[in-house]
Amino acid sequence: SVACVDDWLDRDGKPALGGTCLNAGCIPSKALLESSQLYDRLQQDAHAHGIEVDGISLDVKAMMASKDATVHDLTHGIAALFDTNKVAWIAGRALLLPDRHVTVTLHSGEQQALTAGHVIIATGSVPVELPVAPLDGDVIVDSAGALNWEEVPPRLGIIGAGVIGLELGSVWRRLGAEVVLLEAQDQFLPMADRQLSRSALNLFRKQGLDIRLGERVKAAARTDGGVLIDYENDTEGHQLTVDRLIVAVGRRPCSDGLAAAETELLLDERGYIHVDEECCTSVPEVYAVGDAVRGPMLAHKSSEEGVAVAERIAGQKPHVDFNLIPWVIYTWPEIAWVGQTEQSLKDAGVKYSTGKVPFMASGRARAMGETDGFIKIIADSETDTVLGVHIIGP
Ligand code: NAD
Repeated sequence: SVACVDDWLDRDGKPALGGTCLNAGCIPSKALLESSQLYDRLQQDAHAHGIEVDGISLDVKAMMASKDATVHDLTHGIAALFDTNKVAWIAGRALLLPDRHVTVTLHSGEQQALTAGHVIIATGSVPVELPVAPLDGDVIVDSAGALNWEEVPPRLGIIGAGVIGLELGSVWRRLGAEVVLLEAQDQFLPMADRQLSRSALNLFRKQGLDIRLGERVKAAARTDGGVLIDYENDTEGHQLTVDRLIVAVGRRPCSDGLAAAETELLLDERGYIHVDEECCTSVPEVYAVGDAVRGPMLAHKSSEEGVAVAERIAGQKPHVDFNLIPWVIYTWPEIAWVGQTEQSLKDAGVKYSTGKVPFMASGRARAMGETDGFIKIIADSETDTVLGVHIIGP
């Protein structure tokens, strides 16, 4: 017998299932990536395929409505799945008490008490805020805010050239914005294989994404003409004026006020819920999965952990191999990898060999007219065991 407590409210203030991924993250961004890419391809690529398209125009409101319809269908689909599978949906905020008692404050303000044999915490994460660039929900926004604009900002600034900065920057660049990304680190996409991140940086710059590395934002504030940003590198300071600004400097786990003090749910110093390999927390029969615990903040990692915990509760012996979690960045070309990078193998002193094929050598890629990028496979030089696969390409 399962109850799922969730406090998400949609933009109309109605309870909705699906959390960040469905409502304000993966799915709406993928819808906009798809729509903006179609618009871009019609303009950039149709001619080369012998297709002349005149009078293409953009209806951003309609594009947003299409994205919202996808989100609506999926979140309502979960509600239907809950019905079919007899999962009780309780819309409200949960507080974990000792002995797996849970108090839920419903949106009406009333309280409901639950007791469970097992509890799974999957509270996810929220965007990190930058004190020097306070959000105003209008021109200075986080990743969720940038999914709902109804017109294309002529000049868009983004703080952070990480996964979200690149995906949202790609959407608005394709729709016509001039996009500047200010990234504090000197290294671009440091978690990716170096060869891949170098290639990605070149390709994105060619597309017109103005990626400035090693630049720290000192202040950003709304002015009459938009948003004025002060930023600096090791040697000099600069100013930039944009019409809108997205702050995309990472996410932090949602663990504030989740458990009463006497519950003894252990958090680490950055607020992540402490778990072992099997997602067990410090409290017996209380598990935690997803963005709220260690590891990459990826929806497929979260759901894999969730399935494993459900199987464990049901008496099975599942195993999640964290080394096999793939990464995907939904830019164009797309980026994907799994396993070790060359730099991590060098650091570990592992002898390896690599095989690399450029998409230029693929007949299929040439037929698509999409020859940028490569596939690289890294294998143990003695045993030939595949240790990592890195792809940038169509
Ligand atoms: P991120 O960690 O990928 O990137 C944030 C970037 O901001 C970093 O490069 C960091 O150096 C930079 N930064 C931090 N402070 C800064 C400052 N003051 N000035 C300039 N730059 C600064 O985080 P994100 O892009 O916000 O994404 C959040 C999480 O969501 C990540 O864990 C990401 O993996 C996940 N996510 C994944 C996908 C996907 O898998 N396709 C898509 C979206 C988000």
